[in-house]
Amino acid sequence: MNTLITQLQQLYPKLGFEESNLFYYSASKNIIYHSILNHEEDDWALLHEVGHSISNHETYNSDYSLLKMEVEAWEVAKTIAQKLKIKIDDNHIQDCLDSYRDWIYKRSLCPICKTSSFQDNLNNNYLCINCNTRWKTNKSKLCRLYRKKIESRTIN
Ligand SMILES: [Zn+2]
Ligand SMILES: [Zn+2]
Repeated sequence: MNTLITQLQQLYPKLGFEESNLFYYSASKNIIYHSILNHEEDDWALLHEVGHSISNHETYNSDYSLLKMEVEAWEVAKTIAQKLKIKIDDNHIQDCLDSYRDWIYKRSLCPICKTSSFQDNLNNNYLCINCNTRWKTNKSKLCRLYRKKIESRTIN
């Protein structure tokens, strides 16, 4: 058994850990799924998922709240890492959050006139402040971009 997982199990006895090909947290099962930890970035990803769990993240309503959850999960991950004497590289965290910010920015661009717009609070559709076009974006899961990054690294 991996040392980090053993330590996390001691800290959070109610939380389950199961091997999978992806990193994600299932709030309904209270299980963190994780790939084999063979790189320090995998350890950070695991701590990040624990961060979602401790923060009771389940679903999000808007792109903005998704980003807020990602920030929060990293903050909690850093605190846990400190307890376990692990150092998470801040540049790594910023890279992950930047990829979210880019993605959200692209989603916010009007498909007609390319003006950056806001999601309305009621149904989370975007409304263009310039040409009044409305558009909907697909919901994305937490950590989607993050996982993509990890996967592409594994392939290379
Ligand atoms: Zn527009
Ligand atoms: Zn996440």
